[in-house]
Amino acid sequence: MKITRLETIPICVPLKAGFAIRSGRGGAHTVSPFLLVRIHTDDGIVGLGEASCTPRWSGEDHVTGAHLIRTYLEPLLVGENPIEVARLTQNFRLAFAGNHFTKAAVEMALWDIAGQAAGKPVYELLGGKVREFVPTKWSVSGVEPEPAAAIARWAVAQGFKAMKVKVGTEPDADVARVRAVREAIGPDIKLGVDANGGWAMDVAVKIIERLGKFGICFVEQPLSPEDGVHLADLRKAILVPVIADESVYTLQDAMMLARLGAADVFAIYVGKAGGIGPARQIAEFAQSAGIKCTVGSNLELGVGSAAMVHLAIATPGITAEKIPCDIIGPFFYEDDIVRQPLPIAPGAARPKLAPGLGVELDEEKVERYRVK
Ligand SMILES: [Mg+2]
Repeated sequence: MKITRLETIPICVPLKAGFAIRSGRGGAHTVSPFLLVRIHTDDGIVGLGEASCTPRWSGEDHVTGAHLIRTYLEPLLVGENPIEVARLTQNFRLAFAGNHFTKAAVEMALWDIAGQAAGKPVYELLGGKVREFVPTKWSVSGVEPEPAAAIARWAVAQGFKAMKVKVGTEPDADVARVRAVREAIGPDIKLGVDANGGWAMDVAVKIIERLGKFGICFVEQPLSPEDGVHLADLRKAILVPVIADESVYTLQDAMMLARLGAADVFAIYVGKAGGIGPARQIAEFAQSAGIKCTVGSNLELGVGSAAMVHLAIATPGITAEKIPCDIIGPFFYEDDIVRQPLPIAPGAARPKLAPGLGVELDEEKVERYRVK
């Protein structure tokens, strides 16, 4: 089997009213552009990938992703055997710097082909399930206390047993929001906060102390992503476990944070890491370094969410039972571009029992949401 061509499709699917995510990263996540990737082969198998286009995170969008794939990745991949996923990923990792979400979309499409060719779900190619389902948590937007509490109540009613609240906006507003959510959900729901790098060091120490009385079990990305040194200082100054998210894209980032003692948990994404394989490398390293891992999210659609579930269900270093994962993207959208919804229930995500990633595009919907 040989790769014949790579196709990219820019799409934009509307978020449900009231589900836009406001965070310490600035701005609001109100529209969700994605770049879909189809890898075509000479025996008719087509692999699917999805890149989240979130320029505030990664500097990537529809246009950059399509350009890089057409200019650099397609020439490297055409004529190659797609089931040699590790070798091909290694080759294209160095074709251009960074742009991990774009590379991840292509890498997951290779896994999709490899699974379809073998007649096995991707998680079986990764060594099989290490858990029956992936525990997940809800994410409450950084809105006013009353709407935040309403979202949290909704999530509990849906069946979520864990959630995080976006903070990093303004200290008093952050405290009021977390208080309102804790009062709404009661003492038994696991609760953490995610600042998306929105606090300065001095603010972070004080506010985390103020949040202590609401029983928070983690603080995610309290400081700016580049600031691993202060993240290590902060971690030593507080008792709440620290999750590094925007600080960890690569295995090298993970190694640096581990050496600094800057994190208790890494939030790993298929997109940030540049694919399922590179994400697994980080999880394996973390396991050996005594650091927990969870799977974070840019609110992926069906294809990206499927890749996350296959990763999380088959990777022992992802300690989803300790820190539930954010595989919740499909809940945020009016619609999805896959033919059948994934078995992603509130609090528990499962992969499809089908070859490859187990998802098929709904062509009519792809056309409806295509960015023209
Ligand atoms: Mg995060």
